[in-house]
Amino acid sequence: MTQVKSCPRCFQLMWIKDDQFEVLDENTLRARCPHCKELVRIKLTGLGANAAGPKMGH
Ligand SMILES: [Zn+2]
Repeated sequence: MTQVKSCPRCFQLMWIKDDQFEVLDENTLRARCPHCKELVRIKLTGLGANAAGPKMGH
């Protein structure tokens, strides 16, 4: 799964593959931005109730 997030430093979009980030906790990833080369923390949103919702109705 590839995450698409905007960098909190340079605000450009990052495509982050599974092997390119560390999981800090269930809501936070850490990855190196390909644009500004900073190691940034990325908040995950929508992986909780939103992600589980559609599957439960199936
Ligand atoms: Zn950046």
